[in-house]
Amino acid sequence: MLTRDVEHMLEAINRELPSADEADGLVLKGGYCKLKSRATFEDAMVRARYALEDIRYTGHAFSRLFDQGIETVYNRRTYVVEHLDEAIARGEIRAYAQSIVRVLTGMICEVEVLARWESEEYGFLRPDEFVPELERRQLIHKLDAEVVRLACKQWSEASKRGINVPFGINLSRLDFELCDMFEVVTNAMLKYNVPVDQVHIEITESALAHSSSKLNEGISKFRKAGFKLYLDDFGSGYSSLQVLEGTSFDVVKLDMSLLREVEENERARVIVADAISMVKRLNLQTLCEGVETYDQYLFLQAVGCEKAQGYYFGKPMRHEEIMAHLDQTASRHETAEMQRYYDSLGKVNLIDGTRTSIYGVEAAHFQGTQPFAIIEIRGQSFKFLSANTAFYRFAQKYGCSRLEDFSHLISRSAPAIRNKILYVASKTQSKRTAQQIDFVIEGSFYTVGLTFVEDSDGKEAYLVEILSVTKYSQFNNFRLLEQSMSFLYTIFKRIDLLDVTDQTWRNIYLNVPRYNALRAGATPQDEIDAFCDTFIHPDDQARFLRFYDLDTVGDRIRQSSTTHVADVFFALSENRYEEQLFMIIPAHMDGHTQYLSCMRDLDLEGLERQRESVAGHLSDDVLLSGILDITERYVFWKDSKLRFLGANSRFLEYYGLSSVEAILGKTDEDLGWTHNPHFAKDEQRVLRGEKVLGATGRTVRADGQMRSISISKMPLWSEGEVIGLVGFMVDTGPYAEHV
Ligand code: C2E
Ligand code: CA
Ligand code: CA
Repeated sequence: MLTRDVEHMLEAINRELPSADEADGLVLKGGYCKLKSRATFEDAMVRARYALEDIRYTGHAFSRLFDQGIETVYNRRTYVVEHLDEAIARGEIRAYAQSIVRVLTGMICEVEVLARWESEEYGFLRPDEFVPELERRQLIHKLDAEVVRLACKQWSEASKRGINVPFGINLSRLDFELCDMFEVVTNAMLKYNVPVDQVHIEITESALAHSSSKLNEGISKFRKAGFKLYLDDFGSGYSSLQVLEGTSFDVVKLDMSLLREVEENERARVIVADAISMVKRLNLQTLCEGVETYDQYLFLQAVGCEKAQGYYFGKPMRHEEIMAHLDQTASRHETAEMQRYYDSLGKVNLIDGTRTSIYGVEAAHFQGTQPFAIIEIRGQSFKFLSANTAFYRFAQKYGCSRLEDFSHLISRSAPAIRNKILYVASKTQSKRTAQQIDFVIEGSFYTVGLTFVEDSDGKEAYLVEILSVTKYSQFNNFRLLEQSMSFLYTIFKRIDLLDVTDQTWRNIYLNVPRYNALRAGATPQDEIDAFCDTFIHPDDQARFLRFYDLDTVGDRIRQSSTTHVADVFFALSENRYEEQLFMIIPAHMDGHTQYLSCMRDLDLEGLERQRESVAGHLSDDVLLSGILDITERYVFWKDSKLRFLGANSRFLEYYGLSSVEAILGKTDEDLGWTHNPHFAKDEQRVLRGEKVLGATGRTVRADGQMRSISISKMPLWSEGEVIGLVGFMVDTGPYAEHV
């Protein structure tokens, strides 16, 4: 019979099969061989089967004759089966290793051991040329035992040279059927003194498809003994999400086929991102295989994948090669302590900001559009380690496409924000609870949440979440916002956010109950009218309404030399009309035109005792330079004799003072604050009506550390006379003697 006839015959049979039209219907295929004179039946069957298998690899035919090409492969496979013992004895089996990298840092955190056969006869063989065959012939456990032995031996050699990099080994499902693999592995480790935390076990997802009691037993032995278990090839096609259910694995290795399309295909990106997110939510670690390009690496960074492996970082190498590689990169291996630290950071899910276990508390879920990042603080410097896509987009608004650039931008160009982050971080760490900070960036109010994640060796890592005022409305109340705006609040009696775009308004803060909102739920104009009617002196009402004309306020702010408008009106306070200052500050966000409306006494709050001496008005200059980002400054007031009249709570905290009494009525000299003799001269100038901006000096903080500071001072005027000054101090870092 001719080959063509066989094919026609099978085609005809297949046409008659009941399920012929269905995509996954039954199909009959045949492999066959010519019988050689001395061939045994078994030989013939094996050849026919090879021919059949070849169809699977090479095409859509229904039949395949065993021929030369297949024979070469067949011979090689037979060779493999027949010469395994010999190869082991001759040292042809090799344990290659491929490095695995921590995505967050780019440091090598472990290697995967991969078998190679350096055959005298066939040259270099890769696992797919011998592993499947050895599995079929139930010999795989011999190979694996040898690879494990070699791996342990190589680890111990490396360890003697001071390189302690954990390694993973691949075990086949059949290893567990054919021998006591647990015993084999632990014996090899014992022989070479390899601690259990240096070895992890990879088992492919497909191995788990058929449940086997031997396999389950074996896995649980490894698990109980403290080995880390890796689920290999996740998402390779056999995928069933059930393997993750009740799973005893520690790490899920995403198959490289998942990554292949990530660069072109939005759907692939969604799948990988969601797979990583899901795995993390199950409190497992993620490792992505087959990373070949920088873009793929960046993508994994953005979706918070913890570890990565692939040609981009290095191919599998011979022992000598990988040793040289590890030697060269010695500064880039993780220590055990680093491993603990980064494993903990890896638990943060950047997709939705959830932490699987931080102090046992499940964090709230936020939408995927929320920008998240991990920031690492060491002393007075910080850097963003990783971020989600939304955060990258946020950084891009400020011209930064890389986190590194964004870290630099904030450190260099926005010392106020930098200091605020450092300050709040120090509070967060001691309190171990989430803290909120507010920033005004280009007229927008941002609220940033900071949650302590982990610390190690003088550095601390925090989860940073960027929220904005509008987004806060989702939280029903403004409690968190209030906390961090507390200084503004000590000044203002009432703050409202007026949204012109959707004609709503919201009271953010109220200090004096009588100014309670009058028309909750009404439009901003309704509330303004009602407030005007009730509290503003009749002579001032017309002017007040012009001031609060929301149709013109935008133009007025643009035309003014300041970033806001302010005016004074007589308003009912207690039982009489008193001068009150009203300010309107733009706070546009998310395409909405919004304004913050603020109301306060003309006198500085907290100065009641000294009212007579500071009867003056807070000058516009002070408001201008200070009010918008006043919360991150240390602020103090002095009278015309340079005696302290007051300070904000941050200032007091900075010096470890429990109340303002400690400085009230005292001069710098009285307090022994004499590090900066030039400050006294500056202050004399301010009393003559000048401003001093950014004068630098040093001071001793509450913790005894000598710090560099920068202080701006403004005169306080009353009826044409300077009656005191206000100082705004910024901490610029540790004081260095010779800088
Ligand atoms: P695996 O465990 O999924 O190993 C990863 C495979 O991907 C390795 O192929 C590796 O060389 C390759 N690879 C790594 N990075 C890249 C990349 O960036 N791009 C591409 N295209 N490939 C990359 P290898 O070494 O040929 O191993 C194939 C499979 O053979 C392994 O897949 C593993 O399942 C099995 N295997 C390897 N060594 C052993 C062993 O000692 N025992 C057992 N039982 N199986 C082994
Ligand atoms: Ca593997
Ligand atoms: Ca794999």
